[in-house]
Amino acid sequence: MPFHLVLGTRNPKKRQEMVEILDGLGLEFADLSNWPDLPEVVEDGTTFEANARKKAVENAQRLRRWVLAEDSGLVVDALGGRPGVYSARFAGQHGDDAANNARLLAELADVPDEQRTAHYVCVAVLADPEGRVVATTEGRCHGRIIREYRGQGGFGYDPLFLVPEYHRTFGELSPRVKHALSHRARALERLRPTLRALAASASGTGPA
Ligand code: IMP
Repeated sequence: MPFHLVLGTRNPKKRQEMVEILDGLGLEFADLSNWPDLPEVVEDGTTFEANARKKAVENAQRLRRWVLAEDSGLVVDALGGRPGVYSARFAGQHGDDAANNARLLAELADVPDEQRTAHYVCVAVLADPEGRVVATTEGRCHGRIIREYRGQGGFGYDPLFLVPEYHRTFGELSPRVKHALSHRARALERLRPTLRALAASASGTGPA
C-alpha cells in the first residue's frame, strides 16, 4: 500500500513544487484543496517554524492523517528581515504576488545593488495522524533582489530573486534547477530519510 501524505497547503504552485521535489519516494499526495470545508489555520506565529508547526499539527488533528506543512518567505537584509513571515501578505492581501512584488520594488528603490541581498527560508514540519510532530527541517537559499521582473517560472517573488551563481532569477531558471537549489528543496530533502522509512513501512518492504 502506498503511504498517503497530505500536503498542508492550498497553493497549487507550492503543491506542485513539493510533489516534484519529493518524487521517487512512492508517496501518494493530497493537499488541503481536497477538503474545501476544512477551516483555515490562522498563521499568527512570529516565526516560520511556529507557523509550519501550526499548519502541520492542526490539519493532522482535524484530518487524522499524516500532514507535511511548510512555511516559507523572503528575508531582505536592507529591510531588517522583512517581509519574513509576512511574505504572503506584504502588500496587504494574502497571496497577491503582483502587489507584493510591487511593494518590494518600491521599498528597495533607493537601495544600491550591493545592499539588495536576501534569502528565502523554508521550514517543513511533518506531523502524524495524532498531531505529533515527527520531524522539523529548514532550508535556505541566498540571492539578490533585482530592479526589474525577469522570467515567468516559479511564483511569488521569483521574478525578482536573482541567484548570483547562475546570473538568473528563479523566474528564469527551470524547475529542475530551482529544485536543486531552493530553500524548499533543501528543507524537504532533509525529510527524505524519514519519508522513505514511512513509505517502506506502509508498503511492507521496510521496518515498521
Ligand atoms: P506561506 O504560504 O505562508 O508559507 O507564504 C509563503 C510566501 O512567501 C509566498 O506567498 C511567497 O510570497 C513567498 N515565497 C515562499 N517561497 C517562495 C518561492 O519559492 N518563490 C517565491 N516566493 C516564495
